[in-house]
Amino acid sequence: MEDSQFPSSSGSQGRIRNARTKHLGKPRLNLQEQALEKIAALYWDVNCVCNFQQIVNDAPFKDDYTEYQRMKHNTELFINQAVTDYISALNTGTTTRCVSFISQTSWKIFAICAHSEAFQLASVHAGSSGWFTLVDLIKQNSRSLEVFARSRELEWRGCLLTYCQYNIPGLQEELSPELNIAQEHPHHTVLLADGHLKRPIFQGQAQVHIGTSIWEPEFYPNHPTASPDQRTKLMGACFLCRSRKICQCSFQSMAGDLVELFESPNMGTGIRSLGSFNRGDYLGEYAGIVAPVNVQSTEAVYALSISAPNNITGKMDTKANVFPHQYGNWTRYINHSCEPAVSYVCTVVGDKVTTGLRANRKISMFEVLTVDYGNDYWRTRDYYCLCGTPSCMKPDPNRMCE
Ligand SMILES: [Zn+2]
Ligand SMILES: [Zn+2]
Repeated sequence: MEDSQFPSSSGSQGRIRNARTKHLGKPRLNLQEQALEKIAALYWDVNCVCNFQQIVNDAPFKDDYTEYQRMKHNTELFINQAVTDYISALNTGTTTRCVSFISQTSWKIFAICAHSEAFQLASVHAGSSGWFTLVDLIKQNSRSLEVFARSRELEWRGCLLTYCQYNIPGLQEELSPELNIAQEHPHHTVLLADGHLKRPIFQGQAQVHIGTSIWEPEFYPNHPTASPDQRTKLMGACFLCRSRKICQCSFQSMAGDLVELFESPNMGTGIRSLGSFNRGDYLGEYAGIVAPVNVQSTEAVYALSISAPNNITGKMDTKANVFPHQYGNWTRYINHSCEPAVSYVCTVVGDKVTTGLRANRKISMFEVLTVDYGNDYWRTRDYYCLCGTPSCMKPDPNRMCE
């Protein structure tokens, strides 16, 4: 199994280990790059805590429970110290980094950040300039971070409730109930430029997240019951285990945990990365409703075909179509660019052939993900491409003259 198939993001401990070995031939990161690494670790840590929270709630195993309690205890100690310092600052005027952070952001953002070991460590060990750069970055992305934590049901409110008895200015107001967006999958929430949220809709119907593609044979009574994306011996070896027999492999990627659906004024819903990924990383399956190859979608957007190698002819055969219009995952929202960050790749894995998304190059924290929709897409469109890259194949001539 190749390491490059999996996202490179790691938790704060991994990042700290990496930082310790950075001097070995690697260029030193500037302040902004260091802050981006730290905020990437912050999102990672928050996601990790939420995953543990869910595992412990669903089926507590001793090791998971112990690790979750350890994280929770550290967060509570960290918040307790900050509250003590905050109350002391009200009387003495002596401020600390966390007190100043709460004044500049909010109790809510502080409680969310306090769940991250990377943030806890930075508040103690980061140099002054590095800390200020990180705080600025958190302030710029505070709504994103809040939506990220709330949509994953981070229990940030309970950590602060206990301090209401001290009449701390502003605290009680921030703890008032708000819309529970965690009842929906995180990818049922799109962050608008003005901070509002919306549900992704296609032709008046709410779009629904699915983890993997679905084959519904009753939709296609004239087709054999076997899914058209099912792997056959003709397709050759499994990409992961190289076995020529049908195997149980499946791609696993955490990339979907570390992306955000956002609305851009010109290009509609898009995807922003909330982690960093390496070239070659597999980011996820292009999931949707599987249809036989002779069934065409009435809507050209989103539809994509799946191809598989034919070991006899040496060519790629189109095997199925994927329609993620109503049922699909986050990959359907990736916008087009003529110089894309990721590519569609048809791959044989386990018992099926699938279209996945793979990073063409290093992808940085907060980068907008793009993919090439292909010449066929642009041939049938009467509008111009807005990607703005030097190699754009269909730029708006009016914009170029401006
Ligand atoms: Zn396999
Ligand atoms: Zn373009």
